[in-house]
Amino acid sequence: MYTTVHLGQDSSKISRYLSNTLLDEIENTLSKGESVLLYLNKRGAYNSLICQDCQYLFECQNCDTSQSVHHNPNHLLCHLCTNRVNMPLKCPKCAGVKLMSIGVGTQQIEEALGKYFVGKNIYRFDSDSMRNISSKKNALNDLDQADIIIGTKMITTGFDFEKIGCIGVILVEQELGSPNYDATERAYSNLKQLIGRGNRKSQETTIILQSFIPKNEMIRSLVESNFKDFLMQTLTERKLFSYPPFGEVVKLEYRHPDAEKALTYIKKLAHTLREYNKDNSYIIIPGTSTFKKNNSYHVACLIKGKNTRLLLGNIKSQILHEVKLSVIFS
Ligand SMILES: [Zn+2]
Ligand SMILES: [Zn+2]
Repeated sequence: MYTTVHLGQDSSKISRYLSNTLLDEIENTLSKGESVLLYLNKRGAYNSLICQDCQYLFECQNCDTSQSVHHNPNHLLCHLCTNRVNMPLKCPKCAGVKLMSIGVGTQQIEEALGKYFVGKNIYRFDSDSMRNISSKKNALNDLDQADIIIGTKMITTGFDFEKIGCIGVILVEQELGSPNYDATERAYSNLKQLIGRGNRKSQETTIILQSFIPKNEMIRSLVESNFKDFLMQTLTERKLFSYPPFGEVVKLEYRHPDAEKALTYIKKLAHTLREYNKDNSYIIIPGTSTFKKNNSYHVACLIKGKNTRLLLGNIKSQILHEVKLSVIFS
């Protein structure tokens, strides 16, 4: 049984990411001696931006993937092509101004539930709490004792849970935030797998999907549509955006301790590539901002089109000799 809950209308007092419906269902499930599995994507470190009026999810115009909210100064960044835009003041779709930054991590949920369900055995299962094999093994023993399990993608594969009476997806749109051209498909297969955790057991499992934008087309197709519809829609989108299987996407990523130097490098690289692309066989999208990773600033340049190796052949020696430049085929 599926229920989709609109968090904007049903947020509880203890956290805006926990609906009254979900809290009631947790209580109900625990009272039957069954346990609860709560799932959320770990990418809670970055928030997404939504329009509360029309439920638009802000996404990159180059890549069609969800943008992340960054601060100092406030801006939106695409982690796929590193395109950066100033923080919008209104919605591009409905011109509404009620924009909201959303995103949550496992620890936040654990803390909120700990205060609400006092004395219950709440177990957090993610890469932070699970650093090595032995803690993984111990975790499996502990899971049998757990009343509430809070976990990331790690729980969607490889584990079978006894006595799961309720599965809750904390924030469905957070699934769409991964910096991959196939974010929606990944989200779909993650959710399918997750729901499978419950259905494998004989008893009926209640599934609660929480979202601030339940009417959003992507959320609806994730939640409601059957796989065929979903696949058809995705294939059409991919054709539109020249993604595989209708084309290739190559990401050239350059890193440098100096952000300005990284940007200049990618700008020059894009210029060179365009010299070899006079007939516009390829789409070349240089990033306009950097993001910091391991003390280096990273900038990407995306290339879309058929047989991208042909274009890359022109800058072969640069690719081979420049150690700060990586080529990532998707
Ligand atoms: Zn809007
Ligand atoms: Zn992008």
